Amino acid sequence: MVAAKSHRKQIIQYGLARTFGWASRNITAKRILTFHSVAVGTDPFAHQNPELFEQQIRYLAENRYMSYRISDIISRWPYILDEERWVALTFDDGVDNAITTVCPILQRYGIKATFFIPTLCIKEQRTLPEREMLSCYQNNHMISWHDLSVIVDSGHEIGSHGHSHVKLSRQSEEFVREDVTLSKKLLENNLMMSIKSFAYPFGRTDAFTHNTRKIISEAGYDSCCTMMSRSLARGDDLLLLPRTGITGLDTLKTFIMKLNGDYDCIRWIYDR
Ligand SMILES: [Zn+2]
Repeated sequence: MVAAKSHRKQIIQYGLARTFGWASRNITAKRILTFHSVAVGTDPFAHQNPELFEQQIRYLAENRYMSYRISDIISRWPYILDEERWVALTFDDGVDNAITTVCPILQRYGIKATFFIPTLCIKEQRTLPEREMLSCYQNNHMISWHDLSVIVDSGHEIGSHGHSHVKLSRQSEEFVREDVTLSKKLLENNLMMSIKSFAYPFGRTDAFTHNTRKIISEAGYDSCCTMMSRSLARGDDLLLLPRTGITGLDTLKTFIMKLNGDYDCIRWIYDR
């Protein structure tokens, strides 16, 4: 039922992007892409088919896209926007196929990425009953501290996705402060490194407020990724960076269309 509805929505979006995509197309645009789990699964918004995923990564490599981590973007901002053909891949939620499937494929094509982890979902941190965990991953294994250190050793970046993966805009100031601070502290203490990148759980325009942004900045993060879908531009707020979502329903064709901005003209569908 969910899959059928998602397919219908995807077909409508594809039709709109094909018709109006020329209006927003910009093949030199710099873009952050969001993926979640790469595995065969029933929820196409959470799971990306591994074969399709590899096709997309191969396309980036064959077309000589540079890949940057979020911290690379921040350290070179805004001059990085003058560089040619680059993309930043991000993987949210910390499912363990990041280590079994995603990293080997990225390594095959020399692509670097950023993994945003909700710390309560890390294997050793899990204290909630299964039903209260991210529902789409209830039957998946979540990532472990050892997996995360292997990801770091492979040259990728780890960022925070909050501690408990809740919509921060709906929580009290106190809760948000504790959640984002605890997540940072756990990642830094266990991985022995500074964690400066954050991705808002859910990430659409209703997932954060001016106050959320301020608290996250005060906690010591220097960038935050949203799920507002468009390319990066001069003048962007580094604490409200746009990202374009790639789902399990994307083919190589729609992946390229999203990369080139054809879907930006219908971003009002995504951003709310
Ligand atoms: Zn998430």
